[in-house]
Amino acid sequence: MNYDVIIVGAGPGGIFSAYELTKSNSKVRVAVFEAGHRLDKRHCPIDGDKIKSCIKCKSCSIMSGFGGAGAFSDGKYNITNDFGGTLFEYVGKERALELMNYVDGINLAFGGEGTKLYSTAGTKFKRECIRHDLHLLDASVRHLGTDVNYVVLENLYNHLKSKVDFFFDTPVETVEIVDGGYAVRTKHESYTAKRCIISVGRIGSKWMERVSRELAIPTRSNRVDIGVRVELPSEVFSHITDELYESKIVYKTPKYGDKVRTFCMNPRGEVVSENTNGIITVNGHSYEDPKRQTQNTNFALLVAKHFSEPFKDSNGYGESIARLSNMLGGGVIVQRFGDLIRGQRSTPKRIEEAFITPTLKATPGDLSLVLPKRILDGIIEMIYALDKVAPGTANDDTLLYGVEVKFYNMEVEVNESLESCHEGLYVIGDGSGITHSLSHASASGVHVARDIISKL
Ligand SMILES: Cc1cc2nc3c(=O)[nH]c(=O)nc-3n(C[C@H](O)[C@H](O)[C@H](O)COP(=O)(O)OP(=O)(O)OC[C@H]3O[C@@H](n4cnc5c(N)ncnc54)[C@H](O)[C@@H]3O)c2cc1C
Repeated sequence: MNYDVIIVGAGPGGIFSAYELTKSNSKVRVAVFEAGHRLDKRHCPIDGDKIKSCIKCKSCSIMSGFGGAGAFSDGKYNITNDFGGTLFEYVGKERALELMNYVDGINLAFGGEGTKLYSTAGTKFKRECIRHDLHLLDASVRHLGTDVNYVVLENLYNHLKSKVDFFFDTPVETVEIVDGGYAVRTKHESYTAKRCIISVGRIGSKWMERVSRELAIPTRSNRVDIGVRVELPSEVFSHITDELYESKIVYKTPKYGDKVRTFCMNPRGEVVSENTNGIITVNGHSYEDPKRQTQNTNFALLVAKHFSEPFKDSNGYGESIARLSNMLGGGVIVQRFGDLIRGQRSTPKRIEEAFITPTLKATPGDLSLVLPKRILDGIIEMIYALDKVAPGTANDDTLLYGVEVKFYNMEVEVNESLESCHEGLYVIGDGSGITHSLSHASASGVHVARDIISKL
């Protein structure tokens, strides 16, 4: 065997596995294979000047490379079992929180000290929400910010590089069961290890599906979240974001009884586009450094779609909607809320004359040509509900960017150690379908590393 443990993917899941494996045992031989670049080589070519929109790089620097999809993210580590994944269903609620707090401690030790931990505990805003049938979920959130998040990753890489063999720009093509362990095959070579941790994230969803099929690992799937990213003047939400930073608010729409929720709130942040397997969707982030902050706050409004038999391809459904917006807008579409309500498309002139300056250059258009009626109605109802706790949300000039899609990887069947039906083969992070966040993905990495250490 070349290694004791091979890790596929250097996102938060893979990084925290590597960290925990090598923390107290320098003899453990660990290799990490990463399809994307080293952290310092990760650059998205969109500069807003020569390159204005996604050119579909072979390896997307936003989604791939050391740090994974989280590298240029807002670095919001939500310490909660209420959202961000269902790790607690495998490891128990208490343990899940312990793991997330442990990860928080490491982030602080590697450059995150001094960043703020926000909490919903005891907030008056919760009561205000309930009065309007809006439900605020409980969480503590460490906001590293895109800038500090990068520093933490840089420090983690410098710490790990002498302890772990990193193979960047090296996508793993297949994982095979061999005598006494696993062989991972890359384009030119094959490497073996007694144990293998797969942590390929959302970008690795199709790969994970294939590998699960090849290794006969049972899976199940049926959820996709579809919606828009809302951008408005930061003052509209400042009474909430100044206290809580991120608020996850859930609303059950009167018309269809669907749940709409706020997601990934970025006070004084910017809206960005994201490329998942060639499909352009929208996302957002913000900086801790006041100098890099904007006048606007953005957050997603998402409607969860669960499908029942016989339909199985929930991600395909989400992709088709995103493709439609790409077809009409050449990428992300932006529309003023007032235009949407009046049934008219936004034009460059209307966007220019608005009292808010968009932070993402998107194509003015009509989201009602893209989003299914049921989803759009839910979003509109939620905007009016939010207007009651954050007056100004339903203003004409509120910008809606579409579409935002949260693809969920199919859930891979694993046990409480996150080990698949094959002994020594672990599937963690967003690639397992169990986590959907930085904190849960990182915690899952620590969890499997501890399991492996206990068996070594
Ligand atoms: C713009 C943006 C902002 C976000 N903001 C937040 C936030 O503030 N808070 C939060 O909780 N979450 C946020 N998220 C989500 C968060 O980044 C993910 O939940 C988290 O990164 C998942 O970690 P992971 O290790 O499971 O997977 P990933 O971070 O996706 O990492 C997987 C890695 O595996 C690599 N890989 C895939 N396939 C292969 C292969 N075959 N061979 C080798 N390598 C492979 C990929 O290149 C990638 O680097 C954000 C995501 C984006 C895109």
